[in-house]
Amino acid sequence: MRINRRTLLKSLGASTAALLAPASKSRAAFAPDLSQQLGVLVDTTLCVGCRACEKACNRVNTDLPPKPDAAFKDAAETLPLRRMEWDSYTVVNHYAASAPVFVKFQCMHCLYPACESACIVGAFTREPSGAVIYDAWKCIGCRYCMAACPFQVPAYEYGNAFTPQVRKCTFCFDTRLQDGGLPACVQACPMQVMTFGPRAELLRMGREKINAAPDRYLPHIYGEKEAGGTSWMYLAGVPFTKLGLPRLGYHPLPGYTEPIQHALFKWFLPPLGLYAALGGIMWLKKRSERKHSE
Ligand code: SF4
Ligand code: SF4
Ligand code: SF4
Repeated sequence: MRINRRTLLKSLGASTAALLAPASKSRAAFAPDLSQQLGVLVDTTLCVGCRACEKACNRVNTDLPPKPDAAFKDAAETLPLRRMEWDSYTVVNHYAASAPVFVKFQCMHCLYPACESACIVGAFTREPSGAVIYDAWKCIGCRYCMAACPFQVPAYEYGNAFTPQVRKCTFCFDTRLQDGGLPACVQACPMQVMTFGPRAELLRMGREKINAAPDRYLPHIYGEKEAGGTSWMYLAGVPFTKLGLPRLGYHPLPGYTEPIQHALFKWFLPPLGLYAALGGIMWLKKRSERKHSE
């Protein structure tokens, strides 16, 4: 089924899809309704690097290749630093500070997702809950989303020759969130590193924690404003840039990716003109050859 869908899409031609009006939304359409916005607050000061969250993610996402329990037992695997791959939607990395710090990464489910803005066929959708969902049906494999994401989240199935997909954390949208459940990684954590709930409530909780223990936490909630804000947010006791979280401005990133995308559309026209010119030359050449032989 998946082969047919993709084969059909690809045989119709990526260029055909690209020539249609851009399916991604204008920046105005991105403005999120924060009233229903859910999120997760990750307290990195509590994480012990046990990787129970990675295992739970692998179990709940049955489209991922199942890994044995032993694959998640080696805490040493948190060194060297890893990134999300096609077969793992979340990773826990180990950073050496004055004391070890473990940080769990996954899609940040941005309020203004650069992946959604960059995708020319609208394969990413931001749900009202905050989950940013990928639709393999629509994907043409251009991988602009990978280039656009400031957190290097989307991964590509390069090893899958026939039905490659972009892969990333789903916020457990289909498997749990829609039925009122918790994300599997949040539920599995024995240290309660992650708190799931309304984003506004999480921000309030984060500020309370910072105020109650200023020696433990930096006075900053990462993701509150970065790149316009994210659904997954972090507390830490050491600078976030030392924990693999990039230094970003507060401006929503689609403001940067959309002009690039629109420029791409503009630059589609010269190649089309070239194809038309080549076709015309070939037609004239054939006509001249035919006349010559006559
Ligand atoms: S973290 Fe990257 S993949 Fe996830 S929503 Fe943001 S831009 Fe998209
Ligand atoms: S929210 Fe779900 S898909 Fe995302 S990392 Fe957690 S378990 Fe995996
Ligand atoms: S399950 Fe919790 S404590 Fe264990 S690695 Fe994941 S976030 Fe850290």
